[in-house]
Amino acid sequence: KSSDLDVLIVGAGAAGMMCAIEAGKRGRRVRVIDHARAPGEKIRISGGGRCNFTNLGTGGANFLSENPRFALSALKRFTQRDFLKMVERHGIAWHEKTLGQLFCDDSARQIIRMLTDEMKTAGVVLSLNLGVKAIARDGERFTVDLDDGTRVSAASLVVATGGKSIPKMGATGWGYEVARQFGLRVTETRPALVPLTFEPGLLEQLKPLAGVAVDAVVRTTGDKARNASFTEAMLFTHRGLSGPSILQISSYWREGEAITVDMAPGEDVAARLLAAKTENGKQAVHTALGHIIPRRLAEVICARENLSGKLAEIGDKKLRAMAETVNAWTVKPVGSEGYRTAEVTLGGVDTAALDQQTMEARTVPGLFFIGEVADVTGWLGGYNFQWAWSSGWAAGQSC
Ligand code: FAD
Repeated sequence: KSSDLDVLIVGAGAAGMMCAIEAGKRGRRVRVIDHARAPGEKIRISGGGRCNFTNLGTGGANFLSENPRFALSALKRFTQRDFLKMVERHGIAWHEKTLGQLFCDDSARQIIRMLTDEMKTAGVVLSLNLGVKAIARDGERFTVDLDDGTRVSAASLVVATGGKSIPKMGATGWGYEVARQFGLRVTETRPALVPLTFEPGLLEQLKPLAGVAVDAVVRTTGDKARNASFTEAMLFTHRGLSGPSILQISSYWREGEAITVDMAPGEDVAARLLAAKTENGKQAVHTALGHIIPRRLAEVICARENLSGKLAEIGDKKLRAMAETVNAWTVKPVGSEGYRTAEVTLGGVDTAALDQQTMEARTVPGLFFIGEVADVTGWLGGYNFQWAWSSGWAAGQSC
């Protein structure tokens, strides 16, 4: 015999818990299941343990999707201010770190506790260590066989299982299979907000730079439809490049394309080097460059360009060429670190198949897709959680 529910939500992550709270408040009988041992594991590890839970500047321009306008409705119905009010109602101290990014002062666990407390108040049942074996449509309802051998019947089924990022934490892309089972298209998925990697030869040359960070402007050079530019820190790693500007550009970059990097934003490096040559031609070239960019980076660039000795001994043309390497380094990553370290999955359930007000599948009444499983991907900076809150809230009003 199956137990009857109004709403079964699969996935107790950011989106699933928000949806459960809202549906519970409306008096629905709601159960959330998750195959993990604890709810909100990605919230727990997010933002270096402090959860960058939203961004004050959230707007449509901060998201990638085949249909960039799809997210607007939900983002407007439940905004970053609305989420912030909830955070403040729970007495969670927060601060703005940079670029509108809001973090907990203390711990991401406070956000998880806020959500689980609200679920309790709303009468939501949470079952952990529990996955789904099979789903069938039974007239107007869904019959769902769970891993523990039980069967539930629900009027609404909400898929909130996230993307494929961080498989070690149990991410599987299961939600895409559910979409396909019900005839919904899934767009191409790929790791995003992910470090980029270099081929071994280049890595060898750049090895001494591992751990060096610079402020940078990073740009795509490929397809115009994916034009993007980000001004944030960049970090050299043992595998290639990382840091916020690289994670951001990774959502726009494709294999085979180069990126350009300005490692001295706002500085005309050629002009500075030529002026330094006039003022103090006796200084070593790497010392002069080291006044503009980190010293270790200056040394490696001089070595790669075969430049050594005093500034006065180096022709202007060579100095200009080196400056070009600093202001517009063009480099072709070979790949990314993949889902192992990607913060999100780009692509997902085609938004054309979903109602933008409610996240309900147009052709399958009662079936909802919220959060990262849908083809809506935010920039780095709290946008992905805001999408999870907004889409979860929207579905919670109508499931
Ligand atoms: P998730 O939070 O991934 O939740 C999905 C849930 O479904 C999980 O609990 C999972 O166990 C469960 N599940 C999956 N498959 C099944 C299944 N078959 N059966 C049962 N349960 C299942 N975004 C920000 O905005 N700010 C940040 O600071 C930030 N930091 C991040 C740091 C890291 C290291 C990572 C990996 C991501 C970060 N993100 C951040 C992205 C953000 O975590 C995600 O976009 C967000 O969690 C998506 O929410 P969701 O509810 O859709 O999916």
